[in-house]
Amino acid sequence: MINEQKIPCPICQTKIPFDAQALIRGHKFSCPSCFAVIGIAQESVEQATTVFEEFKELSKSKFSSKNKKQRKGNKQNQITNSTL
Ligand SMILES: [Zn+2]
Repeated sequence: MINEQKIPCPICQTKIPFDAQALIRGHKFSCPSCFAVIGIAQESVEQATTVFEEFKELSKSKFSSKNKKQRKGNKQNQITNSTL
């Protein structure tokens, strides 16, 4: 099942279907009504990708119970600062 989400067009408010994972990778989506192109800035792409990778790492770490030391420093801040 495709996890499709919709975002309102900033110009005409038409709901634009987009794939969050493709968006993170830098893919751009165009409004079907006014053809405005939406996407996230390259620097945001890098940050979002980093957060996404770290999220996967966090998911993995759930399974390794012997590694109980969790860093609560920069990584968490990056996730909090994400605009996604
Ligand atoms: Zn539009």
